[in-house]
Amino acid sequence: MVIVMAPAGGDSDVAEVVAHVEAAGGAAFVSRGVNRTIVGVVGDERVLESIDLGHLPGVAEVVRITSPYKLVSREHHVGTSTVTVGGVPIGPDTVTLIAGPCAVETPEQTLAAALMARDAGAALLRGGAYKPRTSPYAFQGLGREGLRILAEVSAEVGLPAVTEVVDAADVDLVAEHAAMLQVGARNMQNFTLLQAVGSAGRPVLLKRGLTATYEEWLMAAEYIAQRGNLDIVLCERGIRTYETATRNTLDVAAVPMIRSMSHLPIIVDPSHAAGRRDLVLPLARAGLAAGADGLIVDVHPHPEAALVDGAQALAGASLAALAAAVQAFPALTGRTLAVPLVRLGEAELT
Ligand code: PEP
Ligand code: MN
Repeated sequence: MVIVMAPAGGDSDVAEVVAHVEAAGGAAFVSRGVNRTIVGVVGDERVLESIDLGHLPGVAEVVRITSPYKLVSREHHVGTSTVTVGGVPIGPDTVTLIAGPCAVETPEQTLAAALMARDAGAALLRGGAYKPRTSPYAFQGLGREGLRILAEVSAEVGLPAVTEVVDAADVDLVAEHAAMLQVGARNMQNFTLLQAVGSAGRPVLLKRGLTATYEEWLMAAEYIAQRGNLDIVLCERGIRTYETATRNTLDVAAVPMIRSMSHLPIIVDPSHAAGRRDLVLPLARAGLAAGADGLIVDVHPHPEAALVDGAQALAGASLAALAAAVQAFPALTGRTLAVPLVRLGEAELT
């Protein structure tokens, strides 16, 4: 059972809830999030049935949930949630395109990629400053300097930024520079990091781990939610299979399956799933046809010179083809293409 406290609920209200739970023989775990406080209640069936907390002051919701992921479960949650990132919706009414370079390399490259992204219909800008690389000898990202470049370009083109955080110690710094924090596939079960982003007061893009089951993925989301942050978007980015022709195997079934299990929005990353430019468009189409709430794709002004993931980056004709699909698709599924609220600097740039 989970008790969601009203935003205005004070410490004394929480203390009263805890006292009631303990008096009935249960255990209460209090998580104070930026937006709300959540009290998790554990106890046997008899204990849970005997306590009535709904009438206590400051209690917004009492949720009895049988699935192990309680706050992100679809059980007792009507509809799919919409997560708003810097004013841009990601949810069931829209298709949201997130595009940008895999990695922030230089101010010029980032600005060029951001303009390409915006022209293609993106409402959010992606770009990694901290890159989790398989090899310690590969480009690791520009770190703090990359964040500064990303934030500047984001403001210039009017697209709120999404960027990865790989270390719990950097969460506050990254949150100062970006509208949304990305937890990458390799960190999906970094529980300390999940808890830290859960407390950061920013929406989170949670990518699926390379070998994660749906339940493991939703339990990872639960770590974030349990810290009071329900602004979570899931991202299917391909899983590890025996196939070697593609970088990963896009699990299209994840979209409708997660839809049936969780109220969180879900997007698809055809770039990291395929690892090949020519497969990005067909996989993007497949994701949207399966009901994804958006896409995240890599673009680069000079893919052949990219420091990271050039083989999958869109540019020129391949980006134009994706843009056309993204324009056409929402209408077919009763959605609209999400657009940024304010296009700062557009007049000067176009
Ligand atoms: C990325 O989006 O840049 C990335 C590293 O993705 P993933 O964690 O899915 O590999
Ligand atoms: Mn990449």
